[in-house]
Amino acid sequence: MFELTRRDALLGTMSTLAVGTMGNAFAASPLANKQAPAFFRYKVGDIEITAVNDGVSRMPITDDFVSNVPKEQVQKTLDALFMERDFYAGPYNPIFLNTGSKLVLVDTGTGEAALTSSNGLNGRLLMNMAAAGLSPNDVDMVILTHFHGDHVNGILKADGSLAFPNAEILAPAKEAAFWLDDGEMNRASSARVKATFQNARRVMTPEALKRLRTYEPGKEILSGVSAVETAGHTPGHCSLTVSSGNKSVFVQGDVTHASFLFARNPGWHFMLDIDPVAAEATRRKVYDMLVAERMVVQGFHYPFPSIAHVEKSGDGYREILVPFSPIL
Ligand SMILES: [Zn+2]
Repeated sequence: MFELTRRDALLGTMSTLAVGTMGNAFAASPLANKQAPAFFRYKVGDIEITAVNDGVSRMPITDDFVSNVPKEQVQKTLDALFMERDFYAGPYNPIFLNTGSKLVLVDTGTGEAALTSSNGLNGRLLMNMAAAGLSPNDVDMVILTHFHGDHVNGILKADGSLAFPNAEILAPAKEAAFWLDDGEMNRASSARVKATFQNARRVMTPEALKRLRTYEPGKEILSGVSAVETAGHTPGHCSLTVSSGNKSVFVQGDVTHASFLFARNPGWHFMLDIDPVAAEATRRKVYDMLVAERMVVQGFHYPFPSIAHVEKSGDGYREILVPFSPIL
């Protein structure tokens, strides 16, 4: 009878664990001390999708992190997920759609400048794009789901020039009208919201504005890619459906922030939801649809590779991440 106790494992007393200490015939390989490039590819009919990781955030769990739930409950939930209880690591995953005739980027990540300011924690899109064989000059279109910094900052390189110089930039009409309006900025409900208005003006340089075009929910943006109104997180927030043949994927933007907290707890009002009541209603409506249609969801803030199926679970939803596949 074979038994391995926790003590054996810690002390390495099991005979197989001891084998490695017997000889040292080979030279030591140096530690890599850095993460591997992160991109993941799959197909929806004829459309090739590449999720390219931009890194993660590291946000302290503040009292208002979830406005309608005590901080301690959020910390307990993180603890149960084997995560740090005082910090939230929110993933960032922009995606590329290659339709065969157009290369489209959906949301742009935190921007190249963040690579330095975050000590490599985020701002990794351009680096990981290069590893994925994608060139910024080949991007024809950037589609924004909304104007939060982690979705728009990647429009600019660290030197302030355009990261995707040949791309037109498409934003939801209502979203662009809201964040670029000075009257709305003056009525900003908090310092955090005001900073988003100011950031929109910083990112939307004259060169970026030249390329800005708006889109309307309920309409097709390009063949196979349609916009869906999913307001709440921000006033003009939109999601996308990408369809080809009999396949489709729901590109949710920020209908939920990280799935492990906010899909599982759709009633939690995240501090970055501008209208938390509308955001919750949108969340439940979208996720009920995803469950009913058995539709796969691509989540900007889902853990990499950021694509999952969802099922109903208690008062919320549970995500089942799509496993890595070596072939498309
Ligand atoms: Zn976001």
